[in-house]
Amino acid sequence: MNRILIVSVLFFLFACGPSNKKETEEKKVSLAPAPKVNPDSAFSFVEAQVKFGPRIPNTIAHKKTGDYLDFTLKKYGAKVTEQHFESMSYEGKKLFLRNIIGSYFPEKQKRVLLAAHWDTRPFADKDKEKPNAEFDGANDGASGVGVLLEVARLLSTSKQPNVGIDIIFFDGEDYGEKMGESGPPLPEGQETWWLLGSQYWAAHKHQPNYSAYYGILLDMVGAKGSKFFKEGASVEYAPSIVNNVWNTASQLGHSSIFVNQQAGAITDDHVIVNEKARIPMIDIVHYDPVYGYFGDYHHSRRDNMDLIDKEILGAVAQVVVQVVYSEE
Ligand SMILES: [Zn+2]
Repeated sequence: MNRILIVSVLFFLFACGPSNKKETEEKKVSLAPAPKVNPDSAFSFVEAQVKFGPRIPNTIAHKKTGDYLDFTLKKYGAKVTEQHFESMSYEGKKLFLRNIIGSYFPEKQKRVLLAAHWDTRPFADKDKEKPNAEFDGANDGASGVGVLLEVARLLSTSKQPNVGIDIIFFDGEDYGEKMGESGPPLPEGQETWWLLGSQYWAAHKHQPNYSAYYGILLDMVGAKGSKFFKEGASVEYAPSIVNNVWNTASQLGHSSIFVNQQAGAITDDHVIVNEKARIPMIDIVHYDPVYGYFGDYHHSRRDNMDLIDKEILGAVAQVVVQVVYSEE
């Protein structure tokens, strides 16, 4: 995840409180049957990516991780489409990028799009000691992908949901200018020097006229102590999806992680999917009210496996799985 869209990110609106206990218990009974997530499995998918090294475009680790994601989606029964494309970076470097898309149940008309970015930012520009260093991106990148690989595993081993699923791993989300710098003028039609994969996909969908009922983006979903507030752009674009996801989290007993409060808006791949691909998409992303918008590990060498909590990964994965299996 890169940076903020609106400056007033810490402007939390304290909305309605959690529903009373009795109501929550009653709702629990009505949850549709859904496969059970294995938090250890989700964790192992994050670890596997980090072991390749930082997934910085144009590196061997990036290539190997892309191959691993393609292989793993196929292993879990997805029809995989890859988009290889080139994008110019803000510093005039040609980047060789790759969106990886796994589709399930292509015959189903009603589809849900799940996405995360799989690349790693090329420098730890918020690291106080070494702002030019590379970093592992265990949370920023690998966590969302790890959760979606666990979803893929469950889709391949469980009863089919009623909806088709497309899992997109966007590349080039976390490229872009260093903090405090501004790049050269953007090429025509390009919105930012980051979010490169989602911009490419929105202009060149993997299937002509592809659309989805809605989408859920995951970004930084595995850090210890994570809180997921209702991100402002998600609330603006797709309020009913936000409410459905947060209500489902509450019914699963995760209302301390999925906090029923609105937070400021950020720019992430979901903004491109909403604006350019015209698919309503929300973002589940970690906010930290103490350290400003994101956690203190953000874009620093502290974003490594020590940060990752398998219970948080498991909770996010279970919420996503429950939302998908509750669709009629
Ligand atoms: Zn980032």
